[in-house]
Amino acid sequence: MKKIAICSTLLIICFLSISAAIGQTLKVGAALRVITPNPLLPVSGGIGTPKPSTQNKGDLYARAMVFEKGTTRIAIVNVDNLGWSSILGNKSRDLIKGIPAENILIGATHTHSAPDAYAFPDASGKSYADLKYLDWCVQQIADAVNEAISKLEPASLKIAVDEAKGKIAYNYYAPALYDPRCGVIQAIATTGSRQGKAIATLVNYAVHPEVIGSGRGILSPDLCGPLYDRIEAKAGGIALFMNGAQGGMVTADTRLEYGKEGEGQKEANTWDECIRIGELLADEALRIVDKAAVLPNPDIYCAARKIEFPVDSQMMRFILKNSPLKFTFEKDNIVSTQLNLLNIGPAQILTIPGEALPNIGYYVKRNMNTRLPFLFGLTNDAFGYMLTKVDFNSFKRYEYVSRTSLGEMTAEIYMEQAIKLVKESPKPQ
Ligand SMILES: [Zn+2]
Repeated sequence: MKKIAICSTLLIICFLSISAAIGQTLKVGAALRVITPNPLLPVSGGIGTPKPSTQNKGDLYARAMVFEKGTTRIAIVNVDNLGWSSILGNKSRDLIKGIPAENILIGATHTHSAPDAYAFPDASGKSYADLKYLDWCVQQIADAVNEAISKLEPASLKIAVDEAKGKIAYNYYAPALYDPRCGVIQAIATTGSRQGKAIATLVNYAVHPEVIGSGRGILSPDLCGPLYDRIEAKAGGIALFMNGAQGGMVTADTRLEYGKEGEGQKEANTWDECIRIGELLADEALRIVDKAAVLPNPDIYCAARKIEFPVDSQMMRFILKNSPLKFTFEKDNIVSTQLNLLNIGPAQILTIPGEALPNIGYYVKRNMNTRLPFLFGLTNDAFGYMLTKVDFNSFKRYEYVSRTSLGEMTAEIYMEQAIKLVKESPKPQ
């Protein structure tokens, strides 16, 4: 018996070394590009004319993390902007060498203090986006991913999901209705001069980075800027931030006083508050990942599906049809988008092409095949708010989020397709 046990141990060792020899070693690379416009541009917090900016607090970035194992390569990119459509994302995908388009995930952080990337048309059809700036960003995003590919090196991972504690987020519509879970993926170099050091740390958390907003004349990554800086100062490597199911209306907790209903809320909407919240979230993310076990050579998996949504909202139809970005309709008043599912070691990740309400996030996460669920909100597209048909046009509070959604069925279709993709995909390791 003992001999058999030794033999099988040897076989496993043999298999592992053969796997490593034929390139079955997980590799990770990361890179970033600054996308702060020079000179500064007006900033956009949503539909309407962008507001001029006269100063910036922090830089805007495109940040990329690439995973490779065997013949599979996956890129995760975050862009400091309100929303980044597939029209722009696909232009970057065309410029990226060595990763299939469907394995490239591009998400927006949802900062409300960056240039207009939707090219929102006003009532007369005129739009104010700087298309030259957007084309430059497209190139910067591709450059960041291509550089991350060139930096691929053997890596281990640490992955954890836990509650981020402290005054970070709340639901502006109903304070306790938000998801406090923060997911963290950290890649650590296993060879070379940087052995044991972090290559990248990805933070996944649902919150509106709108501390500063679009009405202050300030261009800023909002709380994401201090979050990147803090993580990079403490852990090294490159920090990424992927948003979650932050719709209706999970926002940064800048409350100064808990006012009575209808009295309004006193808030601290300052850069200092961005620093406080960004650094607190960074510290919590590092605390959460610190206790995770090191995964020496985890597997990766990527699936992509094209999903379609009807555009029922007249306003959304007008925006999509009149934006100079030229959104394409799949059929009459139907838009399509890329839905991704990733398995990274024991973690599973699903993308959301918009701003799903937190109850949708909870539902999808509990139907995922993992104890480490990640949701990347506003990723691959940003089609406005996503409410269940039950929530749609219900509370008066939901008037705005219903109006700025594609329609009643968007979230229903999303949940059905996302869970179908989970069922059709292998279970994470
Ligand atoms: Zn929003």
